Amino acid sequence: MESNNKLKLYNTLSRKIEDFNPIKKGKVGMYVCGPTTYDKSHIGHARTYIFFDFFRRFLEFKGNKVKLIINLTDVDDKIIKAASKYDSWQVVSDRYSRYFFWMLDTLKIKPPYSFPQVTSHMQEIIELVQTLIDKEFAYELKDGIYFSIDKLENYGKLSKVNLGDPTIARIEKTPGKKNPADFALWKFKKVDEPYWYAPFGEGRPGWHIECSAMSSKYLGTNFDIHGGGADLIFPHHENEIAQSEAAFGIKKWVNYWVHVAFLTIAKEKMSKSLKNFVGIDQLLDTFSPEILRYYLLSAHYQTQLDFTWDKMKKAREQWTRVVRAWYDVVQRTEREIYGQEDVSNEIETEFNRMIESLNNDLKTPEAYKHIHFLASLVLSNDINKKSVDVAHEALSKISEIFGILPEKSWTGKELRLAEELAELREDLRKGERFDLSDSIRTRLKDEGIKIEDTKEGPRVKFV
Ligand SMILES: [Zn+2]
Repeated sequence: MESNNKLKLYNTLSRKIEDFNPIKKGKVGMYVCGPTTYDKSHIGHARTYIFFDFFRRFLEFKGNKVKLIINLTDVDDKIIKAASKYDSWQVVSDRYSRYFFWMLDTLKIKPPYSFPQVTSHMQEIIELVQTLIDKEFAYELKDGIYFSIDKLENYGKLSKVNLGDPTIARIEKTPGKKNPADFALWKFKKVDEPYWYAPFGEGRPGWHIECSAMSSKYLGTNFDIHGGGADLIFPHHENEIAQSEAAFGIKKWVNYWVHVAFLTIAKEKMSKSLKNFVGIDQLLDTFSPEILRYYLLSAHYQTQLDFTWDKMKKAREQWTRVVRAWYDVVQRTEREIYGQEDVSNEIETEFNRMIESLNNDLKTPEAYKHIHFLASLVLSNDINKKSVDVAHEALSKISEIFGILPEKSWTGKELRLAEELAELREDLRKGERFDLSDSIRTRLKDEGIKIEDTKEGPRVKFV
């Protein structure tokens, strides 16, 4: 079960699906814009980070070493605003950084190579602003240092933004700017705000400069993949390109730009400012991290995903079928229970088709279809040892790529515990303690475990 075919990937920069060729064969540098730590991460963020985790896992499955960087914006207007008499901006930032790390860990997102923070990369940021001043791409106004987009030939190449459009969001309105779309690289010190010393004036960085400084520190001045939510294309990523290509004197800073579409809630964009967001902790009260991953990866990353609780429940039903196939294979392997049917070739074919769907611009909905065909082959046949072995390998790899199956060691433990309870129930039944034996059966059923009475004794099944 190997995939030698090339990955084809949609590149926001070219608006085309391209063959993915890393700069260094077998090594991929990936930078994903992380959170501004002023509030709890919500399910929209979870979609972005789970997607890039899945993408990283798939690249690793294909034999690449992936160096992933996720930054944390730990000083910013929003954080300073969220500070109060009781909480300094550092306390606010620490709290929500911890929440972010908790989310990544709980949602089985593999740790990146590094989580650089703005406050610990001030030197690199200041040097980059200085380079832009020296190269005459920047100018000074009363409140800060600004980047002059007119100095670049091709500003707007990522977003294809029409700067004449008055409805463009997120353009800083500052009097004196040479072009309305010029943006702050450095904001001069204000009363009661944190600041750092810099040769061009005390203050703190603007929003975009950190990503150019930190990505080049860890990945060099030309790297493979830069990603984030689709809402970052303009102005954030556009401005990152402008300042990086100007400072490093290069024509192509990042080779592939990958953006994840919005997650909406009842058809509205979910965002912190709209206050309609569903928190991760809220979801985890009802659904396991694996179900959440399954659901968030069920739509293609470029498709808007509309969240409803009903859709989550549907996802749980579908997910349960895959897990049942997994448990079936684990149980058969552990107890050496094999049937007669050989469907090993069919299982392998479905697995390979699933990988091909992922090679084709990470088409997860198609991949899911093949995962379900594979699960059906396991569940609707009394499969032989060869098929069990092939299915075990296929499902393990599926879990490696998607992170959607419960951990194997936990499965084994759970299975043994359930079997012991089933035997206890059997003893109670024999002793005519039906009230207790029924209660064990009901409790297990609530946990999705069914006891089947067979000629050989009770057998537990995960349903
Ligand atoms: Zn960024």
